[in-house]
Amino acid sequence: MAHIGKTEPDQTTEPEAEGFMQYFEDHKKVYPKAVSGKVRSLKWAILVLCLGFYYIVPWFRWDRGVGEPNQAILLDIYDRRFYFFNLEFWPQDIYYLTGLLILAALGLFLVTSLFGRVWCGFACPQTVWTDLFMLVERQIEGDRNQRMRRDASKMTFDTAWRKVAKHAIWLAIAFWTGGAWIMYFLDAPSIVHRFWTGQAGTAVYGFTFLFTASTYLLAGWAREQVCTFMCPWPRFQSAMLDEQSFIVTYQSWRGEKRGHLKAQRNNTTGEKYGDCIDCGGCVTACPTGIDIRDGIQLPCIGCGLCIDACDTAMKKVGRPTGLIAWDTLERQAAIAKGVHLPAHLFRPRTIIYLSAMSVAITVMVIAMSNRATINLSVLQDRAPLFVRIADGSIRNGYTIKVTNKTHAPATFDLGMAGIADASMAMSETHEDREQVLHLPVGPDQVGAFRVLVMAPDHGASTKFDFTLRNTNTGEKTIYHAVFLGPEAAANADAGVH
Ligand code: SF4
Ligand code: SF4
Repeated sequence: MAHIGKTEPDQTTEPEAEGFMQYFEDHKKVYPKAVSGKVRSLKWAILVLCLGFYYIVPWFRWDRGVGEPNQAILLDIYDRRFYFFNLEFWPQDIYYLTGLLILAALGLFLVTSLFGRVWCGFACPQTVWTDLFMLVERQIEGDRNQRMRRDASKMTFDTAWRKVAKHAIWLAIAFWTGGAWIMYFLDAPSIVHRFWTGQAGTAVYGFTFLFTASTYLLAGWAREQVCTFMCPWPRFQSAMLDEQSFIVTYQSWRGEKRGHLKAQRNNTTGEKYGDCIDCGGCVTACPTGIDIRDGIQLPCIGCGLCIDACDTAMKKVGRPTGLIAWDTLERQAAIAKGVHLPAHLFRPRTIIYLSAMSVAITVMVIAMSNRATINLSVLQDRAPLFVRIADGSIRNGYTIKVTNKTHAPATFDLGMAGIADASMAMSETHEDREQVLHLPVGPDQVGAFRVLVMAPDHGASTKFDFTLRNTNTGEKTIYHAVFLGPEAAANADAGVH
């Protein structure tokens, strides 16, 4: 790899005692040159879309009724809810998040196997914010050559104020980014007010600082090093690529032998040159500082800016564009032999990803459309396992939790099925013994109730169901429970399960 040392050390020998043996190459600052073209325009459009979406979304409002948050997308940590327009997710709905993550991962696998690292090159937050920071840098300090000259020469007032201005704007963008992130977790208008009036709380100020600092450092300073050294994605994306994936490729069969235009025009030796005029445009445009002509490389994020750079060079010298293009290795190898192959978008791996995505989408749609607004959880007393009451029958105690996910107060009827001659009570005196208990639960709340179940002594344990019905909506649910008798207690004492 490119970053292994200038001097390859012998693993069996100690570093030289005198002088310093450098094991790793110093990091070389990359000064990407501005390019224009179709890819650059597409990247700007995606940048505006992504950043616009990120900054504006917390301000979208959604009426959910009185007492409910009116932010369209809100991950409410304090009340443990996730609001997404009309949908409201509780902690019990965590499997929807799991489904979404699986879907996102499969989508990424599919896109990568079809078009290489387009996610990295176009929509990854690291790429988008780095692009924005580079735009600011370019506007203030100039393009590649000017910036290189500034950095190589002594500090002047002109350079100093430009650098101060650049970092100030970077910090402002980073702060805006960090602040916007907080708004996904707290009501946007009120947190902005609380933030600027000093009432927001330490966590809010702390996280805003953390996200501001990480944006500033990652997009302003670390840049391509995040993609090359920190991000795990490039390491395993190669498993999704094959020779039929569309990636940014240099068409060496057409470009080689490369040579400067002057050398090509003054060619007196009869050398056979290709279309590459060795202008270096693709290298200077590259935000990771690599040469695409060297073939597929790990630092290549598939941003396609080298395509624009090369197309510009080709147009200038009146040669066909597309010397660097999105193409498959298979097609390139065939074209080199004069054969034109069609693109193979549907191949086993893409079909498998598509099928898995279809299954995940179907399961999620069915699960969402049958999503319950009622939930019943039961915790049985363990000490004691049962109590024999005055009339000789057996009593078990349970803590019942009823979740009312509707926005209206409701009474829930709690009943039992599968246990003969049983009754329930909520008081230790058992005066309120009933077959059905009526449990009131407020809107969007979880009600906790202590319920005592009494049944004749049958010795053994009995399986039964708690049944729960929302009297407003008629929605029902059941919970499979066990009524423990004296035999269960004896088995427990003897260690029998
Ligand atoms: S080689 Fe081309 S596609 Fe790859 S990162 Fe550099 S400019 Fe982007
Ligand atoms: S931009 Fe095109 S012509 Fe210039 S060096 Fe790169 S591949 Fe060759």
